[in-house]
Amino acid sequence: MNDETPPGANRWRRFQDWDERPLRLDRFAAEDPDNGFAAFSSPHDPKPGVTVAGGRIASMDGIAAADFDMIDLFIARHHLDPDMTLEAMAIPATTLARMLVDLHVPRTKLVCLARGLTPARLAEVVAQLSMLEIAFAYAKMRARRTPGNQGHVTNAKDDPLQLAADAAVAVALGFDEIETTQRVARNAWSNAMACAVGAAVGRWGTLFQCSSEEAEELRIGLAGFTSYAETVSVYGTERAFIDGDDTPWSKAFLAAAYASRGIKMRCTSGAGSELLMGFHESKSLLYLEARCLCLQRAMGVQGTQNGGIDGAPLASTVPGGARELMAENLIAVWLDLECASGNDSRTSESEIRVGAKIMPFLMAGSDLICSGMGSILKYDNSFNPSLLNGEEMEDYLALQRDFEVDGGLTPLGEERALSLRRRAVEALSAVLDELGLASPTAAMKASVVVASGSDDTESFGPRDAALIAQGIQARGLDVVDVIRALARRGFGAEAQNLLNLVRLRLSGDYLQTSAMIRDGRVLSAVNDPNDYGGPGTGYRVSPARRDQMAGLRDVLDRPTVVHEEARHARDENRRIAYRVVGDAGTGSDTREVVIGVSPAFGVKLFRTVAGHPLSAVLAELIAGIKSRGLAARVVRVRHTADTSFLGLSAARLAGSGIGIGIQAKGTTVIHQRDRLPHNNLELFSNAPITRLPHYRRLGENAAAYALGELPDPVVVPQRGEAMGARFHAQVALIYAIETSLVTDDLTPEDLSVTFLGKPA
Ligand code: CA
Repeated sequence: MNDETPPGANRWRRFQDWDERPLRLDRFAAEDPDNGFAAFSSPHDPKPGVTVAGGRIASMDGIAAADFDMIDLFIARHHLDPDMTLEAMAIPATTLARMLVDLHVPRTKLVCLARGLTPARLAEVVAQLSMLEIAFAYAKMRARRTPGNQGHVTNAKDDPLQLAADAAVAVALGFDEIETTQRVARNAWSNAMACAVGAAVGRWGTLFQCSSEEAEELRIGLAGFTSYAETVSVYGTERAFIDGDDTPWSKAFLAAAYASRGIKMRCTSGAGSELLMGFHESKSLLYLEARCLCLQRAMGVQGTQNGGIDGAPLASTVPGGARELMAENLIAVWLDLECASGNDSRTSESEIRVGAKIMPFLMAGSDLICSGMGSILKYDNSFNPSLLNGEEMEDYLALQRDFEVDGGLTPLGEERALSLRRRAVEALSAVLDELGLASPTAAMKASVVVASGSDDTESFGPRDAALIAQGIQARGLDVVDVIRALARRGFGAEAQNLLNLVRLRLSGDYLQTSAMIRDGRVLSAVNDPNDYGGPGTGYRVSPARRDQMAGLRDVLDRPTVVHEEARHARDENRRIAYRVVGDAGTGSDTREVVIGVSPAFGVKLFRTVAGHPLSAVLAELIAGIKSRGLAARVVRVRHTADTSFLGLSAARLAGSGIGIGIQAKGTTVIHQRDRLPHNNLELFSNAPITRLPHYRRLGENAAAYALGELPDPVVVPQRGEAMGARFHAQVALIYAIETSLVTDDLTPEDLSVTFLGKPA
């Protein structure tokens, strides 16, 4: 090749464009069941089957009882019901799959049958469903009717002040559960106390978790700082268990320890964990997860956090991976487990893949749609970035509004957010000071209140958090000490909120399946059971809830537009004066171009949608015409606001037969008197990107047509911006103001235009 060869001449450059898309940062893996890379089925998955002898399970999924590993044994003993397993297993997989999406088969019947189904059968059945059917079945099978959501509250510095402020915001956004973890293990107690205080600001009822080393997490729970736990992990292969020094029995014991102290309890499992640990036994992701889920039901645990979790990014690399993640959630709810349905780990750099992944869950609803959405920014997410984080919070809120689906969150206004943050920071500072743990300065507090993330704060760092944590442990402080401190320092409402939550530990009502607290009362599968049976049943967004979800910030409405225009009117009145001269006649001067302005131009509307004052636009059009030595006459058209007819009306009045039509929003046309209405000479249809120099050149071109020339059309360059999304609502509101001034039988009138001082 010589120097003349253009770079990349042997490659279609579209691939270069594609190389630069965020998607190219994702990697995809080949399906390879032998090496554990298979979502739904592997040749090494066992064939479903069960035999019973003497009232006990004699074999399960092709393995005789004598050869059971400890997972098989636990499932056979505690999950499968020997009295009905033969009957349930006799139902063909296709029939069961159809029952899952059959509105005439109630959820309760399917839940009963699940007690007799083996892991291999459960996996086989859900594998038969399409993505749509999985989402539909999930909507029917999940336990509680009202959907909820769970969020992460962490930061890169383990700064307790920021944790408190962010917890208060997460609570206000509507998260039913929030959880924290720490960058440095010894900071756990400080993080737990900070979030517990922050979550008590504004309202009460948000359950709170501090993910830590298992024994320490339990101690923090016993001290009353946390109200749920969900990081008791179980695995689908024996080796993965042994690797963590655990057995199904030890995990069941730990789960019972939490529940016995009134702590809501969920296990964690999900596709890909065995593959990540290297103990996949060449089985499919779904089959291994089906084992985990049967194990969890066998343990008697309240629910599960599954749907990939830490393994979700890995599951997403294989064909069907995203479908598999929801399929395993479906097995969970079929087994009547409460489900925090994944969507925590970020599975892609592609915003399209992220948005697509969350949609079926928003449509179907879930006990907790995300088992940890990042309420904080990505870099502050100590669990690793979530599928959705603080950056994308408003995108999520927009999805709720677009599809009228309840993702559990509610838009939060700026003033409310700031006052909650301030209150949370003050409350925690008072507690730290009262308990002699630390004394934050005014500057520290002020930096945290307005901080979007820990990069913006001048506050506590990990070392300070460690000292606070040490102080809490050394003095054996518990949640009652915190409640007392809040009360003593004037934070009575927060003290009461925290007390209300702690008091629930005694009744234990939130140990029911799918329990959460809304408006001071427990909602669970017991008193809010999912009764979805087709249109008109199940969870519906109420009118009040719909209003909440629709209330994004900066929503346009007519009063806002009218108010804005009134503000611009004052400025424009200082720049330009329009005076009506009389009815406009047809000109005889062939060197005259007529500019036809719309009914509301300079009357009720004063700026183009690109933000240019109409006085400036008019000045440019006139200057352009005059620059070719021609005269410009301005008329107001009153019988139409349509661009083409504005232009045509102006052209018919012009001695030259050339007219310019312009709407107040800035859409402009050059027309000629003998042409059909929409067959114009030139059109600026993209008013939002049309700038003053374009109007000037349009004036010049109109003059050129009048002189019998054929100029190059003025091109307003555009790069494919979504201008419809940005401007259509505004344009529709503005255009309604134009049309309200249209009167059919009024003829155009001549305007005398005087520019006052300097045009803007
Ligand atoms: Ca979680």
